[in-house]
Amino acid sequence: MWLPKVWENFYLGTKEKAEMGDDHGWTYPDRGVIFLREDVYEGLRLNRGRDRFTAAHELGHFVLHDNPLARSFRSSENLEVFRDSEWQADNFAGEFLMPVEVVRKYPDAYILAAECGVSEIAASVRISELRKERML
Ligand SMILES: [Zn+2]
Repeated sequence: MWLPKVWENFYLGTKEKAEMGDDHGWTYPDRGVIFLREDVYEGLRLNRGRDRFTAAHELGHFVLHDNPLARSFRSSENLEVFRDSEWQADNFAGEFLMPVEVVRKYPDAYILAAECGVSEIAASVRISELRKERML
């Protein structure tokens, strides 16, 4: 894993479902820590698309946000969607796992999902967003 080389004290850990509940990941950029729920980590090891997306989403929080766990405080405000940290982390994950050049090569959700190791739903969202932005 290359992250410890970029962030010397980076730590990727797991926590049990009993502790994390419905949350799939917790990221603390200020402490250099990402926790994945143990079943999500196992899915990541097995290259399960949904879990790969979750890990990339948490990586997005790690590099983009000071404190993503504060997001709940902001959800009550009337924010433009692109200012929402969850939207930003999802977009990061989409771009990280499905670069635009690859989407242009495989603009079909089923094929893109297989090529990029993501779920067909994630591939479909990425394709439709790029079409909306007229990048496809
Ligand atoms: Zn998130």
